[in-house]
Amino acid sequence: MQEELENISARPIASADSLAQKFMFVQGQEASDDVVRELKANPGFGNAFADYMARATWTGQQWENPSVVPYGPISLDPAGSVLHYGQEIFEGLKAYRHEDGSVWTFRPTYNAARLNMSARRLAIPELPVEDFVASIVSVVRANERWVPSEMGTSLYLRPFTFASEAFLGVRAATKYEYMVVASPASAYFGDGVKAIDVWVDRTYHRAGPGGMGNVKTGGNYAASLLPKLVSHDAGFDEVLFLDAATNTNLDELGGMNVFVVYADGHVETPALSGNILPGATRSSILQLLRARGVDARETTISLQSVIDGVKSGDVAEMFACGTAAVVAPIGRLASDDFDVRLPGGDVVQSVYEELVGIQMGRVEDRFGWCYRIC
Ligand SMILES: *Cc1c(COP(=O)(O)O)cnc(C)c1O
Repeated sequence: MQEELENISARPIASADSLAQKFMFVQGQEASDDVVRELKANPGFGNAFADYMARATWTGQQWENPSVVPYGPISLDPAGSVLHYGQEIFEGLKAYRHEDGSVWTFRPTYNAARLNMSARRLAIPELPVEDFVASIVSVVRANERWVPSEMGTSLYLRPFTFASEAFLGVRAATKYEYMVVASPASAYFGDGVKAIDVWVDRTYHRAGPGGMGNVKTGGNYAASLLPKLVSHDAGFDEVLFLDAATNTNLDELGGMNVFVVYADGHVETPALSGNILPGATRSSILQLLRARGVDARETTISLQSVIDGVKSGDVAEMFACGTAAVVAPIGRLASDDFDVRLPGGDVVQSVYEELVGIQMGRVEDRFGWCYRIC
């Protein structure tokens, strides 16, 4: 799975100019410059939505009517099968404004390939990689004014596909909608990175063997919300899930992958067992670390070894990572029977600076990850 994602995302992509024609632009009412400026000044995350969204419809044979239309409510039949059986997949990526005013995105074909892996698992029609990138180009160009410019800020892009057929029988639907909405996003953590407290859940799992843990679908998030709510009430920011088969090894957080940094300098992240989402941030951090000469391993990590390692001083740092937050250092790890604090170090901060530096055009893009939109 990871190999397919890396292979597809390594292929050259047509230029944004040549893809921009694929989605037909439909002009609508737009927010005033003052409103956009205000929203960009302090957008938070996922609160406000840009003027335009991309859209295409599957009616049984192919994706039809690719267009960029004014953002707004959609109509869906109450029997629309996504509402009953959850046949839905999504992606998350960002557009960044560089210092010269140009707008770029990061590894868009990785997301395109992953959307198609998710599509296959949920019996949803795939979207050609070029059409995915074209939708991103079109939606960002239509909303160009909405891309903020401060270090670490971005226009967050949310592509998603869902079953829209009105039918209550249990089978894959024959009608789908693909959409991309855009939302200005703050740097998740104002200056640099803020540590999070993480609860290790031994009661619930987000995914199990043969399930959907390795693809991006709302159902996995639905399964993570109750444990997140309970842990939040107990004062924790996020939940770390263990593998469902043995309840002993680290899987990942509800929406972020996890890394462990050891005092001897090597780094580990859970191997993609089939229950873990292959994050673009995870993949990029592994490559950045390996390019630095760091021994970065993908392996099985038992919870007990991590607890023992923190107590003995063998484990220095832990962090979570994903497109939205980039990286989040873990300050505290706890469950019913343990509660440990991570000493911290400078690996998390340096990974954050290098990755965001590449995305914002301030650090050389040695890996060819950035794609110019306009
Ligand atoms: C999206 C997601 C991630 C992070 O993936 P990125 O491509 O790095 O944003 C990690 N875990 C889960 C469960 C996810 O859905």
